[in-house]
Amino acid sequence: MNIEYNADVIVVGGGPAGISAALEVARAGRKVVLLERSHYAGSKNMYGGAVYTHALKEVFQEDFDKISYERVINSHTWAFLSEDSSFELTYKNSSNNHAYAIKRFNLEKQLIELVKSKGVYFCPDTLVVDLVTNENRVIGVKTSIEEYLAPVVILADGVNSLLARKIGLRQDFKRHDFILSAKEVYKFDKKTIETKFNLKEDLSNGINKQYFGSDFGKLKGYKNLFMMSFLYTFKDSVALGVGVNLEDLSKNKLNISDVLDEVKKHPHIAPLIENGEMIEYSAHLIPEGGYKKVPALYSDGVIVAGDAAGFVNGVHFEGTNFALISGKLAGKAALHALEKEDFSASTLSVYRKYLENSFILKDLYSYRNIINNLYKRSNSLSVYYPNKIKEFFEIITSANCTSKSSQIRKFAYNFIFGRNPLDTIKDMFAFLKCALDVFFGK
Ligand SMILES: Cc1cc2nc3c(=O)[nH]c(=O)nc-3n(C[C@H](O)[C@H](O)[C@H](O)COP(=O)(O)OP(=O)(O)OC[C@H]3O[C@@H](n4cnc5c(N)ncnc54)[C@H](O)[C@@H]3O)c2cc1C
Repeated sequence: MNIEYNADVIVVGGGPAGISAALEVARAGRKVVLLERSHYAGSKNMYGGAVYTHALKEVFQEDFDKISYERVINSHTWAFLSEDSSFELTYKNSSNNHAYAIKRFNLEKQLIELVKSKGVYFCPDTLVVDLVTNENRVIGVKTSIEEYLAPVVILADGVNSLLARKIGLRQDFKRHDFILSAKEVYKFDKKTIETKFNLKEDLSNGINKQYFGSDFGKLKGYKNLFMMSFLYTFKDSVALGVGVNLEDLSKNKLNISDVLDEVKKHPHIAPLIENGEMIEYSAHLIPEGGYKKVPALYSDGVIVAGDAAGFVNGVHFEGTNFALISGKLAGKAALHALEKEDFSASTLSVYRKYLENSFILKDLYSYRNIINNLYKRSNSLSVYYPNKIKEFFEIITSANCTSKSSQIRKFAYNFIFGRNPLDTIKDMFAFLKCALDVFFGK
């Protein structure tokens, strides 16, 4: 059959993965159509707040210095929360600029301006409802209004990727493979936020905090909640959010916005958003299946990139870099097929090779067991250790007229025998296994 194509490549999804894929194809002078269901790209997308500059540089290239950002994120804190305490480890580097805080609508806005300037035909308000196939090969997409045809279709339609599921590339994601996250954004005037967080007027510093712990407020008593909270500072606002494994929410009949309400009330978090005006609420899924759940990444005429392929490193909150670079590699694979004029799965399999040679499949492989290992020890991470850390620091900070040695001996005894010692051994093994996996990873 002689097919009349509308473009060389069609990309579904105007998030970082789709935009980057379209850009790669357009830079080679090929005709590419980018379809996005929302009115403007970014309006349906959500994240914590940090985009990684190394990936941005690869995508923006000579335009990198023109990117408008709200702060350089160069202070990272890991905090363990108990009912009334917080133990925080902070790493700061004033000359590091590995990440920028950029609001999502602004990230996608700048990316879309860039791709349009390189010749990408961008269609907002366009929902793709199905794929068009011919003799089992994908040859285009069906929108709610019409069909667009191209020899290669790149699916970058995000975490749910109904299209990858429809075409049979992705099947067995379970509730356990997702984190559900809710986030609120609080606005302050610039001076207030600078004083509150010790931030510089010139936007050259910014904060990211990751909180572990769930044993507080109305969450007290819930066991095995795999939960992490986060905070990012922007120019004149703060994003505060929480993510909980979807299966844990459902087993405990918990609502994610109720969990966020408890986080907001924690005595060491509440002051950080106090007097701020809540200007945004959003909720979104994060794929957490990792390496073991990476779907089939291509088939005849079609490639999957970004969240649609489950490319996220949840341990370090990295997703935009995986999306930007996997999109770029998907674009590169499409160009390879166009050059060979062969759009079969066997030609498109070059995509997997590109991913294997990049940090994407290497990191996913190295971290393949970590989320599951931590998940199995979630009670230790969220309840037991945050409380033990508190007990320890109470001893060394209380000067309570009791000998320190006797208190520390009692603490050590309780630490080892206060619960089934097998649990402590399992924790040690799990943490050691995580460390060894990364050390001996790819
Ligand atoms: C709470 C939270 C915090 C996070 N924090 C960070 C962070 O701080 N740093 C970081 O790097 N990553 C973070 N991530 C992950 C990061 O946001 C994602 O990995 C990244 O956005 C994935 O990009 P994507 O382009 O693959 O998908 P998306 O950004 O989801 O884009 C998919 C696009 O496809 C469109 N679409 C979907 N279906 C269709 C259709 N049928 N037709 C047309 N268009 C369609 C959508 O409207 C959307 O624009 C976070 C994620 C969450 C949820």
